[in-house]
Amino acid sequence: MTPAPKAPRFPLALNRLPGPARAGAPSSAGAEVLRPQRPLQHAAEAASQASTPSGLGLDSAAVRQRMVQRLREQGLRCEPVLDALAQVERHRFVDSALATQAYEDTSLPIGLSQTISKPSVVGHMLALLFEGTYARTHGDLGRVLEIGSGCGYQAALLALLSRSVVSIERLRALHDKARANVAHQRRGDLRLVFGDGRVGHAPRAPYQAIIAAAGGDELPQSWLDQLDVGGRLVAPMHDSATGGQALMVVDRGPQGLSSRRLDAVHFVPLKSGTA
Ligand code: SAH
Repeated sequence: MTPAPKAPRFPLALNRLPGPARAGAPSSAGAEVLRPQRPLQHAAEAASQASTPSGLGLDSAAVRQRMVQRLREQGLRCEPVLDALAQVERHRFVDSALATQAYEDTSLPIGLSQTISKPSVVGHMLALLFEGTYARTHGDLGRVLEIGSGCGYQAALLALLSRSVVSIERLRALHDKARANVAHQRRGDLRLVFGDGRVGHAPRAPYQAIIAAAGGDELPQSWLDQLDVGGRLVAPMHDSATGGQALMVVDRGPQGLSSRRLDAVHFVPLKSGTA
């Protein structure tokens, strides 16, 4: 196992985050592009290098605690998020052949050319949501909208951190997989919806937190419309300055929307329609 770096990788307080990314200059100096959804062949390579967490059963909370400890050492300081990461059994969300890697900081294939995001990226994005006005005031994420359920792992984390979650997936097979995966979770008020997440989910709007696991050319207007005052949106988006993607944070205050562009990232594309 790679020793955890001493220096925090993610300065999580928003006011300490670097400014907008510029062409050729990723926002975190020297930081690698965050790749929660690496190309599938990389995930397959990683799968062939499986290493078993030593001495502990995969269902052991101690294995997850070690993952959480590594994330803490990398700079993740949001206790509710760390608690949720310690609780949700990530190995149950991936194929059994990949379960031995479930608590390493790596993305893994979940079928249909999609991947489950790296725990460090999931933790980073959830911690950013916790820095929003609503979450700082209330201590939870309130009503959450997630776009891109995938295998349901992040949805299960969100269910522990919020009052209610609506999670949308456009691929029927993954929607069904997520449904099966969360069935055994202590899930709170978690609703999985099959559909095109670009239109959001108006019936439960407005949301105090919106998070996307797929990136498009721009943020869909419906997400901005469905964001509550005091709410925060965290999503990858195309960055014309670099030609890649950047993580966007949008807050709705009493005076309207304000947005910031943070880390360079690499997520799967936000697609239209269902399949
Ligand atoms: N949060 C997930 C990661 C899923 S990867 C997890 O924990 O496993 C991103 C997902 O976004 C993919 O499953 C992809 O099918 C989905 N996606 C892409 N465009 C979408 C859209 N318009 N609406 C809903 N889901 C979408």
